[in-house]
Amino acid sequence: MLATARRASLTATGPESSTVPSEETSDIFTLSSDFETASVEEILRWAWRQFGPKIAATSSFQTQSVPLLHIMAKTVPDMPVFFLDTGFHFPETLQYRDLLIAEFGLNVQVLTSEDGHEGFLHRHGDLYRTDPDRCCHLNKVEPLNRAMASLRAWVSGIRRDQTAHRENAHIVSRERSGLYKVNPMATWTRRDVWKYIADHHLPEHPLLASGYTSVGCEPCTRPVLAGEDERSGRWAGQQKTECGLHTASIGAVDPNTNQETRHD
Ligand code: SF4
Repeated sequence: MLATARRASLTATGPESSTVPSEETSDIFTLSSDFETASVEEILRWAWRQFGPKIAATSSFQTQSVPLLHIMAKTVPDMPVFFLDTGFHFPETLQYRDLLIAEFGLNVQVLTSEDGHEGFLHRHGDLYRTDPDRCCHLNKVEPLNRAMASLRAWVSGIRRDQTAHRENAHIVSRERSGLYKVNPMATWTRRDVWKYIADHHLPEHPLLASGYTSVGCEPCTRPVLAGEDERSGRWAGQQKTECGLHTASIGAVDPNTNQETRHD
């Protein structure tokens, strides 16, 4: 049973302030712990009650995105889903996105870089080769920051078993910017994802059958070879493992130290 009083306590204080009182942060840490045994549906309903309509999810519409989108469509159908259109996606990803929108009736909103893709190419060319961190920043982090500026909370589909960095993800956290981050899938495993997809007969990303176990932008993704980690096809041969969206948001503010628990 979740601690209703703790969940309700967040309604008393909004994230408008950029400072985080440690007492409130303690509540968030406790709340996040309470959610460790909650279902994705329960966490999403709580988030919508708490923050709606000033809340949005993000999805990259890749191979393992579909369970969260399916559950959202059933439980919080009005919650917007932001799709960061970098202009570098595989055509198959855009087809898959459109298929899921049609099947689930998702409220998808497309975000792009400030210049749009043509403008980006004109100004920066193949920045993904020379400075992929900046390319991700301009195409993903900045557009999301702009969209989130007027919102109170962000729902993401990241899981702790995906990368060493994501092992630190909380189910609910609050950033110094004031934005709440909700990761309802944090406790799910890869096995849970594939079981959910099979049990519910959900459509698979068209590139999965070709060995793309994790799909990002086309220039930065290759198929995974036998025995490799499922995300090893992302930025292969580089130290880079994250686009920057979650490296800036995994951390929460530790109530004991008042320091962010980031692991960039
Ligand atoms: S994944 Fe690659 S192409 Fe996409 S935004 Fe990042 S660096 Fe650019």
